Amino acid sequence: ARKFFVGGNFKMNPATLEQKRALLKTLNEATLDPETEVVIAPPSLYLIPALEGVRKEVKIAAQNCYFQTGGAFTGEIRLVNTPHTTSSQPIDMYIIYSVPHSCAMQASPSSSSVTPSAGASSTRPLSSSRARRAPPSTPACRRGAAEARPSTPSRPMNGSPYISLLLSPSLELTVGLCVLFRRIVVAYEPVWAIGTGKVATSAQAQETQAGIRADIAKAVSPAVAEETRIIYGGSVSAKNCKELSTQPDVDGFLVGGASLKPEFVDIVNAKK
Ligand code: 13P
Repeated sequence: ARKFFVGGNFKMNPATLEQKRALLKTLNEATLDPETEVVIAPPSLYLIPALEGVRKEVKIAAQNCYFQTGGAFTGEIRLVNTPHTTSSQPIDMYIIYSVPHSCAMQASPSSSSVTPSAGASSTRPLSSSRARRAPPSTPACRRGAAEARPSTPSRPMNGSPYISLLLSPSLELTVGLCVLFRRIVVAYEPVWAIGTGKVATSAQAQETQAGIRADIAKAVSPAVAEETRIIYGGSVSAKNCKELSTQPDVDGFLVGGASLKPEFVDIVNAKK
């Protein structure tokens, strides 16, 4: 059985260290479902305080990192072999790795990595460590999102899909994603649902995510598809999480806005 997974993507929040401490306090004092894997992704400045300050049951994710393990890369973030690790023991951390579709192909047409596409049923080569550097607002990305729009009425989403991959642990980013699928959590986030208050219906999430699983089965193997967590993101709240969590292919959530509020605990406990 796949372990239910709830991630809190704090994005560029909270504004102050005090608010950050309050968030950790809420999590540290709450009763959390032990059957759910909980991961929070604070901004990089707060990664170390979060690692040190949060209960051990809650894991930490980075929102981004650079594909090189070190060197003269001004402004980039290195996650492997931080002061919290020895040189041979990489940090155990998820990384949110956003994969806008053809944008990645455009940025890196020779990439041989494979990841499933959500809107289309085919699997395309995309996403290398270089590819992910392309900002989502580039015209190529927008075109990619448009291409990924469901082409048949049977596909439920009328917006373009946006996939995040949570990679764990200490991914060797330059290696093809295909090899690493066993360590990936795929988040399906329709762009129209992100931060809008418009959540997918449980039937929509189920249909799309079952499609993603079928894509993984084809691209990698049925066994890997069976064990890969596919989670839903986009306006998840305490109100809508329970119903979404009843769907067989909804293995958890990637939560933005609500992860900054006490209701995040209710979302973690959606299956309870
Ligand atoms: P919201 O939950 O704020 O819609 O954000 C979803 C998201 O983008 C998580 O990565």
